[in-house]
Amino acid sequence: MAVAKRDYYEVLGVGRSAGEAELKSAYRKLALQYHPDRNPGDAAAEEKFKEAAEAYGVLSDAQKRAAYDAYGHQGVSGMGGGGGFEGGVDLSDILSQVFGFGDVFGQSAGGGRGGRNRPMKGEDLRFDMSISFEDAAFGKVADLQIPRLEACERCQGKGAEPGSGTITCPACDGRGEQIYSQGFLSVRRTCGSCKGAGQIVKQVCTTCRGEGYKQIQRKLKVTVPAGIADGNRLRVPGEGQPGANGGPSGDLYIFFSVKEHPVFERHENDLHCTVPINVAQAVLGDEIEVPSLEGKIKLTIPEGIQSGQELRVKGKGVPEVQGRGRGDLIVHIEVKVPTKLTRDQRKLFEQLAETLPVSNEPNEKGLFDKVKDYFM
Ligand SMILES: [Zn+2]
Ligand SMILES: [Zn+2]
Repeated sequence: MAVAKRDYYEVLGVGRSAGEAELKSAYRKLALQYHPDRNPGDAAAEEKFKEAAEAYGVLSDAQKRAAYDAYGHQGVSGMGGGGGFEGGVDLSDILSQVFGFGDVFGQSAGGGRGGRNRPMKGEDLRFDMSISFEDAAFGKVADLQIPRLEACERCQGKGAEPGSGTITCPACDGRGEQIYSQGFLSVRRTCGSCKGAGQIVKQVCTTCRGEGYKQIQRKLKVTVPAGIADGNRLRVPGEGQPGANGGPSGDLYIFFSVKEHPVFERHENDLHCTVPINVAQAVLGDEIEVPSLEGKIKLTIPEGIQSGQELRVKGKGVPEVQGRGRGDLIVHIEVKVPTKLTRDQRKLFEQLAETLPVSNEPNEKGLFDKVKDYFM
């Protein structure tokens, strides 16, 4: 690294005001020209290839380019460009930005031959389940039908007719990958015929026609725990798609959407509802019936209750999921002021009006909050 670095713009052969497209096209040209596959064993070409990638890596990144324009190579060392380049940046990252595929160097993602025969865990499945408000609160046992794959019984998921052996894949000669030429580059791709295994079955299974799997409707009994909330999910181990090559099955995830309740609103494990009372009940107090998830329950309205005040009924909310406790029922009191009065009622209110104190001073700011805190 003792050799002085060349100017990045000079490396790519572009002006300092070059735009994105110009940079890309200049780099593309150099990358093709100096690609190691086209210049086997040529160290100078490899050096030029890396130099171009480094230059493009910096100049194609607005932040790095600004730093480079201002401070030169110093400005981008340690930013994943410049001095730190060889250790830090993946050449194939930069190449794939320009060419649009990741395996230009033949580094296929599966890790090459043999890797495809390893036991692999099956895919996880998602099942969306809509559930009533009450069932979410108290739990239930649900009968589900999950569409998924199941390994073919005849061939145990191998796709081969029992007793039939395997032969070398004729499409790739057993290499598990095929080499394509794209421009001057050679690209390696996993063989489509054998899926990278290098071997194909001699005779396909007559039941599944070589698929190895069949589509089934898996019947399941699932215990939905009490207290489940909208958006919660439940994992059912081993009920996802079957694994490959003897690998374990994936898992099933049940996503719950809880239907709304006509009366109750749920916050965490507390239930909220609003109950109207009349002026006399508010002034004198009363015992009323309010709804709960288990039917009507009695609730005592204390004398002099204010509209908007909350009454808490302990333990009448939603059970905690897999816990012992239960939330509360919170009744919001709404005092209804009568809008239509009989003549007698009007007379009584007029009598009241003469005796009730009148104070129309505005409340001090914040007093409302204090009152609320006091009653909570
Ligand atoms: Zn089969
Ligand atoms: Zn093949």
